[in-house]
Amino acid sequence: MIYDDNNIFAKIINKKLFSEIIMESEHAIAFNDIAPKAPIHILIIPKGKYIKYDDFLNKASKKEVYDFFLLINRLVKTYNLEDTGYRLISNAGNDGNQEVPHLHFHLLAGQNLGKM
Ligand code: 5GP
Repeated sequence: MIYDDNNIFAKIINKKLFSEIIMESEHAIAFNDIAPKAPIHILIIPKGKYIKYDDFLNKASKKEVYDFFLLINRLVKTYNLEDTGYRLISNAGNDGNQEVPHLHFHLLAGQNLGKM
């Protein structure tokens, strides 16, 4: 699959589309989901052109990968979620019902999220 330069998250990275950016690092950004499924629903995406998790791990540098997961951890700390907990999800491809073809992790928290 070829990366689609016109996907919504590419436009958010290029600041062609507005989003409520919460945190940014050298290689990743975090912003609020437009249709939140929990009191805290943040999307974390790498700035590089990666479609999904396996694509990212296969092609990105270790620095990009570390930076990405560190940003998620910074969010966990900022929102004091270490004790209350949270859910991290990354939908991939057809069977995962991935809607936007740019890698993203959903960080959901702020209430008991129920069973998957
Ligand atoms: P997926 O189903 O691909 O895992 O999740 C895509 C997510 O992106 C959905 O939760 C959806 O609400 C969110 N989303 C779609 N379009 C936009 C947008 O333009 N801005 C923001 N902030 N989130 C979006």
